[in-house]
Amino acid sequence: MPRTMIEPFRIKSVEPIRMTTREERERLLAEARLNVFRLRAEDVLLDFLTDSGTGAMSARQWAAIMEGDESYAGARSFYRFEAAVKELTGYPHVIPVHQGRAAERILFSVATKPGQIVPSNTHFDTTRANLEYDGVTALDLVIPEGHQPRTRHLFKGNIDLGRVERLLQEQADLVPFGMITVTNNSGGGQPVSLENLGSYRALLRRFGKPLVIDACRFAENAMFVKLREAGQAGRSVKEIAREMFALADGCTMSAKKDGLVNIGGFIALSDDRWVEAARNLLILTEGFPTYGGLAGRDLEALAVGLEEVVQEDYLRYRLRTAEYMGEKLLAGGVAIVEPTGGHAVYLDARDFLPHLGPEDYPAWSLCNALYLAGGIRGVEIGSVMFGKRLDDGTETYHDMELVRLAFPRRVYTQSHFDYAAEVICELKQKARTVRGVRIEKQSRTLRHFSAEMGWA
Ligand SMILES: *Cc1c(COP(=O)(O)O)cnc(C)c1O
Repeated sequence: MPRTMIEPFRIKSVEPIRMTTREERERLLAEARLNVFRLRAEDVLLDFLTDSGTGAMSARQWAAIMEGDESYAGARSFYRFEAAVKELTGYPHVIPVHQGRAAERILFSVATKPGQIVPSNTHFDTTRANLEYDGVTALDLVIPEGHQPRTRHLFKGNIDLGRVERLLQEQADLVPFGMITVTNNSGGGQPVSLENLGSYRALLRRFGKPLVIDACRFAENAMFVKLREAGQAGRSVKEIAREMFALADGCTMSAKKDGLVNIGGFIALSDDRWVEAARNLLILTEGFPTYGGLAGRDLEALAVGLEEVVQEDYLRYRLRTAEYMGEKLLAGGVAIVEPTGGHAVYLDARDFLPHLGPEDYPAWSLCNALYLAGGIRGVEIGSVMFGKRLDDGTETYHDMELVRLAFPRRVYTQSHFDYAAEVICELKQKARTVRGVRIEKQSRTLRHFSAEMGWA
């Protein structure tokens, strides 16, 4: 049996990517105010900014798009989509939205009050921002290993049950529900075990609190459970995914991840406590409940995507991609979050750039350096994303400085990853030439998207 794991698809449609010179990239990055979010995508060679909405759809999905029913109300495409979500999650109430953050905004608007606290393993940046916008505290309670980039643990996305219990004992009246992100994106794409999910659920139940899954990468999480959790190897990924959903009371979903589509999302709920209020808000801001800000064709593509994403040969190749990249980087002396997660490899920028202090924003600086060195675009998961400038002008910093290289689904081939690993390992050899940055202009929320930076 050959050991090489191949891409389990062949290519039917191609899109050229453009090589640039170092001089061009210096100019382009300066024009982008040293913020890779401000670059034009066509000036990027390998775009690992995000795995969100950047995947390639299958021939079956493109065929389904032609079946889109664009009726305003009651479209056939909605019922196909609804059936696919029900079949997967088991939840009877399905509300389409245009993407994950719309699901968050709507659910939080109807299910939280200012002054409340919502615990999770790690809230994703839009999740945190939407809670904070509503005056709610977003509390991250991942297990201690989740904060230690080099500590190996099979389920580094698990939530710290002791700290959840303490929170509930002391302040249960302030907790409307618990959340958990699968896989834990901001914590390194790390999985949550079924055992942890079950115990968290039981704990919340004891205090009468529902559990909401941030389900963006449910299929990758289910595959990790199959590969790593005792007693799960013989089950199908779909069965495991269904159990994950059964252990919660609802989910928010960005289908731009494990929905295998370029746009879409949903809220799905097991009982009707928030459904009516959510649908009313949906009509106000997203659209009628049978399309929720999406076209009928988008709902068709999503229905097919939810079937394709639980295919095990796809998931095996998907998780192997990150692992393969991780092995190459480790061999080149580059510190990464270990073990590798599902959708991305995370570089430890503090280790990569030991000469920079927190005020130099090392993860941001490393992002810039990767673009300059090889036209590679990653994203900072560090103090620009999660730190803050307080009203008195002082800065708060994040506890990790990571650069996430997120892999679009079914888009790049093994030689793209070989090239990227080579660029990064070469850059490591001359890491001391990488300069820090300063924030010159920023917005109050989600400042990383638009910040203007200068060299330190
Ligand atoms: C992407 C993402 C979201 C937000 O979804 P969008 O579709 O980008 O609005 C929420 N949570 C997690 C874990 C995500 O990865």
